[in-house]
Amino acid sequence: MHKTTEPRQWTRALQRLSERIAPQNYDMWLRPIECVAIEGSRVRLRAPNPYVRLWFESNYLPSILDELKSDSDDSLHVEFEEEYAAEPPPAAKPPPAPEPPPAQFELATGTQSIASVEVARGSSAGPAVVAPAKAPQLQTSSAEDDAYQTAPTASLNPRYTFNSFVSGPSNQLAFAASQAAASTYPPKYNPIFICGGVGLGKTHLLHAVGHEISARRPNARILYLSGERFMNEYIHAIRTTRMHEFRKRYRESCDVLLVDDVQFLAGKDGTQDEFFHTFNALHDGHRQIVLTADRKPHEISDIADRLRTRFAWGLMADIEPPELEVRVAILRKKAAAEQILLPDDVALYIATAIKSNVRELEGALIRLAAYASLSNRPIDADFARETLEGSITRPQEPITVDAVLKSVASYYGLKVSDLKSPRRHKSIAGPRAVAMYLARRHTKQSYPDLGRSFGGKHHTTVISAVDKTDKRLKTDPTLRGEIHAIESMLLH
Ligand code: ADP
Ligand code: MG
Repeated sequence: MHKTTEPRQWTRALQRLSERIAPQNYDMWLRPIECVAIEGSRVRLRAPNPYVRLWFESNYLPSILDELKSDSDDSLHVEFEEEYAAEPPPAAKPPPAPEPPPAQFELATGTQSIASVEVARGSSAGPAVVAPAKAPQLQTSSAEDDAYQTAPTASLNPRYTFNSFVSGPSNQLAFAASQAAASTYPPKYNPIFICGGVGLGKTHLLHAVGHEISARRPNARILYLSGERFMNEYIHAIRTTRMHEFRKRYRESCDVLLVDDVQFLAGKDGTQDEFFHTFNALHDGHRQIVLTADRKPHEISDIADRLRTRFAWGLMADIEPPELEVRVAILRKKAAAEQILLPDDVALYIATAIKSNVRELEGALIRLAAYASLSNRPIDADFARETLEGSITRPQEPITVDAVLKSVASYYGLKVSDLKSPRRHKSIAGPRAVAMYLARRHTKQSYPDLGRSFGGKHHTTVISAVDKTDKRLKTDPTLRGEIHAIESMLLH
């Protein structure tokens, strides 16, 4: 589908990227994307349907922008032209105005059709100020110079509401706590600390709190940002001697502070210090604070005790992977929202196969819809099995750390004893980190347990390996491919 008229930079970038990703993925998700033009910093793309666009945006956009960046120094803005085939495919009708995906990185959604992504900071969510009496709206940071002009901005995702959240035993407490945060004023529980594994709805709930408060108390000044963003802003404020403004913004001009992924503050002493004082100022002033993290406060290493203690002051709610019924309900809701016709047996098939991560659950659904629309077939049980067989599977029994060790060792041509050894050579440390990541993801072992299973390593070593792998996964398609390959060995 690549036209000879496509811009040369685009063709070159694609070519470089194609060396790093599996051919079938390339054909499926990159080939159909057409580059209409690159005009200065504007990259105009066209996708054959919203599903390909969603998948492309959430999986390949950062990498291709990286490649494009190597040809030019501009910060690039990607715009999608909304020209889908007039005929909707039989099973999967494209929604009229596709929204950006619930991606690993946040996309700015100034208008529905334009997604701006800044390459260097693809994963950090920008702060969103919810303006009084309006739909959640984005305002740029008070610091108006270079670092922020190119920073990505992310307002509250309009799809992340309480209404679109499916609650069940695994997330009931977090759901109730979030609702309490949104409806109780002055705060009854402060802070509310939501923790749980990746893709289980923490960010969704945090955004929902923001929406709900802005609906109930239109004048409330709500700040939503990630821990990483807090750090970046703090550093920026120091550099530009704007500490006064920074503090005013976070300590005085804020009624509700929503901070996503506070585990990011681990090891960042200066930022922690600043956050500690911010926390105290808001807490003393009876302002609601809601925090999320991928683990419990006491599992976050390298965080000052005084902060850890404060995290646990209010109400801590843990989210577990959802039960089967909840997974089915999530799929149904998502399918309805995306206008995908999803038969019950297919919903059950996907929900049985994917247990631990809602993002993956949604990913499988979107993939299925994309394949269906590309191949012009309805989504039925056979089609689902054919399409998803390779990527999702039904584990017969729970995955053990031993199984992970064996699969990883065999994939990389190592011995299990290498993975357990203290050797730090790259050829071993890399696979070991992958094994730790997979073990954490697919088994219920705690970090200290995993440390023991890996030949007596300290739990912080495991945490750091898991974190690093998780981060690398977002930018490294090769690693993603390797991990998928090992996962399919494990799950079969
Ligand atoms: P986390 O922040 O915990 O990694 P997210 O909040 O980003 O996870 O959730 C990942 C995706 O799964 C989002 O698209 C979110 O809307 C969806 N999701 C997670 N849990 C639920 C749920 N209980 N009901 C509906 N959607 C959910
Ligand atoms: Mg999140």
